[in-house]
Amino acid sequence: MMEVSRQPHHAEPIDQVLGTLDSSPEGLTESEADRRLAEFGPNRLREVPGRNPFVRFASHFHNILIYVLLASSAVTATLGHLIDTAVILAVVLANAVIGFIQEGRAENAMAAIRGMLAPHTSVLRDNARRTIPADALVPGDVVLLEAGDRVPADLRLIEARGVKAEEAILTGESVPADKGTGPVAPDAALGDRTPMLFSGTMVVSGTARGLAVATGDATEIGQISSMLSKVETLTTPLVRQMDVFARWLTLFILMVGACLLTFGFFVRHMPFSEVFMVVVGLSVAAIPEGLPAVLTITLAVGVQGMARRNAIVRRLPAIETLGSVSVICTDKTGTLTRNEMQVTALVTAGTEYTVTGEGYTPEGTVQRSDGVPADLDSDPVLWEFARAARLCNDAELVRHDDDWRVEGDPMEGALIALAEKISAGRAASWEQFARTDAIPFDAAHRYMAVLHHDHDGHAFVDVKGAPEAVLPMCSGQRTGTGGIEPVDAGYWQDRIEALAAQGMRVIALASRPMNQDDTVLNSADLERQLLFIGLVGLIDPPRPEAIAAVAECHEAGIGVKMITGDHAATALAIAAQIGLSNTQSALSGAEIEVMTDGELADAVVETDVFARTSPAHKLRLVAALQARGLTVAMTGDGVNDAPALKRADAGTAMGLKGSEAAKEAAELVLADDNFASIAAAVREGRTVYDNIKKVISWTLPTNAGEAMTVVVALFAGIVLPVTAVQILWVNLITAVTLGIALAFEPTEPGTMRRPPRPRDAPLLTGELIWHILLVSMLFVVAVLGVFFYALDQGYPEALAQTMAVNTLVVLEIFNLFFVRNIHGTSLSIAAVRGTPYVWAAVLLVTAAQFAITYVPALQTVFGTQAVPLADGLLIVALGVVFFAMMEIEKQMRLTFRYPARLGMKQAATRP
Ligand code: ADP
Ligand code: MG
Repeated sequence: MMEVSRQPHHAEPIDQVLGTLDSSPEGLTESEADRRLAEFGPNRLREVPGRNPFVRFASHFHNILIYVLLASSAVTATLGHLIDTAVILAVVLANAVIGFIQEGRAENAMAAIRGMLAPHTSVLRDNARRTIPADALVPGDVVLLEAGDRVPADLRLIEARGVKAEEAILTGESVPADKGTGPVAPDAALGDRTPMLFSGTMVVSGTARGLAVATGDATEIGQISSMLSKVETLTTPLVRQMDVFARWLTLFILMVGACLLTFGFFVRHMPFSEVFMVVVGLSVAAIPEGLPAVLTITLAVGVQGMARRNAIVRRLPAIETLGSVSVICTDKTGTLTRNEMQVTALVTAGTEYTVTGEGYTPEGTVQRSDGVPADLDSDPVLWEFARAARLCNDAELVRHDDDWRVEGDPMEGALIALAEKISAGRAASWEQFARTDAIPFDAAHRYMAVLHHDHDGHAFVDVKGAPEAVLPMCSGQRTGTGGIEPVDAGYWQDRIEALAAQGMRVIALASRPMNQDDTVLNSADLERQLLFIGLVGLIDPPRPEAIAAVAECHEAGIGVKMITGDHAATALAIAAQIGLSNTQSALSGAEIEVMTDGELADAVVETDVFARTSPAHKLRLVAALQARGLTVAMTGDGVNDAPALKRADAGTAMGLKGSEAAKEAAELVLADDNFASIAAAVREGRTVYDNIKKVISWTLPTNAGEAMTVVVALFAGIVLPVTAVQILWVNLITAVTLGIALAFEPTEPGTMRRPPRPRDAPLLTGELIWHILLVSMLFVVAVLGVFFYALDQGYPEALAQTMAVNTLVVLEIFNLFFVRNIHGTSLSIAAVRGTPYVWAAVLLVTAAQFAITYVPALQTVFGTQAVPLADGLLIVALGVVFFAMMEIEKQMRLTFRYPARLGMKQAATRP
């Protein structure tokens, strides 16, 4: 069916290209598209194969600690301690297996998240606009693009209005290239092929309609290919910092080990094999080998938790930043409100109307305020309303059974419904109007204009936009009967304020006739040349969950600011419904413009509503808030929002209505565009940070406690209370069970009642260091205490050691329960109940301890003996005492810290 084209697509007139691809400007049918999808395959680049699992597994042995352990196992083997060799090898193997599994999990988590961000694109199918996954695109499809879209395939332009494309990934040229529809020379370089848009490049301005000529690997980018697949490693600055810390600690411990080896061998004259085993045991005990893996799991769990709450993390460090957010700047429309628009009011020069109906269903009535139904014969201006609303519009209403939905901008969808309601019964054939040119909506100029020609040779422009943008363009206004009179600015101003005060979005409509031979629309054609038609009032109710989320943020010491392009009165009315703090006064874009950065930094703290702002103001607002020491989350959707999103600490893009450009600039993408999801992400962010802290505050003191026990024994010249093999065992079994359980800790109850942590809060706070010291000391005391008690009872050495190692494990379990609640009490039912992970870990460890204590075969391996019941109970009782002491100490600290914290909370919202 498809002949081979003689000329490249960029050198042929579009009609010929359409012919070659057997398509038309109206696109393909669904059935033809399905057929072509089967023929050409999905529009996806060939995947770069992932790393071979065997290589992945082997890479887990590439680690300084593992080398040390392998060397030790070689030494123990030559010394004839085969049991020790086996245990060491088991530790090494377990580490690699766990690392391998967690890495797989983390990679799956990230892959799932990439899947959630899979791009979509708008195409014409069956003569109607559809949004489809970009990989379902086929050659011959007609694609609709606008500023901020990523080009989904190689396209030959059919229509282009002010299109510029950023093609750096193909041409290396960072200045956006102008695009048009006219053919160029066949040998034109890639960067000079103006009638082409290439897959993977970005549309930075204008609107375009293009014919897909190549998809998947057939595209220019697909040919270059062998593009590296972007496997992001699961890490954040904090975790990297911990990684480096762990590596230095390892080195330090090895040095200490070497000193001890020398000390034991030369000073204490211990046999080499014995002192060597002690040093190996000590190293394994002290080195937090499991820590990096457990932290990575903690992050993976956090990323998944956020994704479940519709917050998709694009850059991992955002998980950390989110936990410290102290102010959220949010859009209004669609984020705080539902973005389910409905026209409820119309205002003409003489009359006000109310409009009824349900959602986007194009049925309902238009009535004058006295209840009389409006009538196109007596109010001909309504016809102008309907036409401007219908034609100055890029959306479509699609019926799904009894439910009408919008393809495109919801506000425009509401205007289509309005046009249908006005023209009800008059079978207006909008098809007779052909659009010849358009000026697309842009958040900076806040209007949209279209030029249409009809079959009778009439040409006219329709404009819709913010009243402040449209009114100055008008030289007159339509009267109710369709006549023309001078603009009554005062009247309109009153009506605008009245509608906006009810929280309505107000849109002005205007039009003008044009000459038949005018086929190009310039903004000069609008200046002081339009006739004002009237105002449309649209309601867009707040999201109930956003109200709750704002309250939650306030409680958590997080400021919420609304930054909108809408009218100040509309914004303030919605702000009051949503529950923002200051709904008395708004700062407008025009006011921001005349402020210095210093003035803005002052004003930004007191103000919660910013109205009639354009994207450039967002950037200044972020900077002003950051200058105040605040950590800023900022939402955005348009291509112009990208700089502000990049600058913000946690740039947040809208997943549904956001442009690809905004998503790529953002750290976080909201799958449901909902403010409540940002609050949820902050809560998850705080939880992850807490859990990282918990993992650290369990692991470090546990390791330190074990290590100090050995060191003390060595220096005191006594028999080791816990043998080297036993220490290896404890590390093997507990680090991978108890430690990992903390990665799954749920959010602590008070998490969103605490003020945000300061941006530069260190991870190893004085409090944490104190905790580490205290726990390690208690560990040493308890383990040595039990050991000496047992010797004192006349128990054999082996039994005393068995009791000591059990004490160690019992304390670790109790420490786990203590660490689970670092901010609140550990003595509540909920705190003790724990998570399934905690109990699974505890059961596993307990079973393992019973096994090495009582199973004869294991007793020979580990040199243990059965512990009498009474002594077992004593050990558990010691754990309880340990737990009580830790908890009392924490309660004392919390009591003293609390008033200071409340003070901080105020400081965070009003610095
Ligand atoms: P928001 O912050 O609420 O998303 P926008 O920047 O999208 O505000 O819009 C700002 C103003 O521009 C709106 O109040 C409205 O008056 C006008 N506007 C928005 N969308 C369109 C459109 N598609 N066509 C014309 N005017 C629009
Ligand atoms: Mg908007």
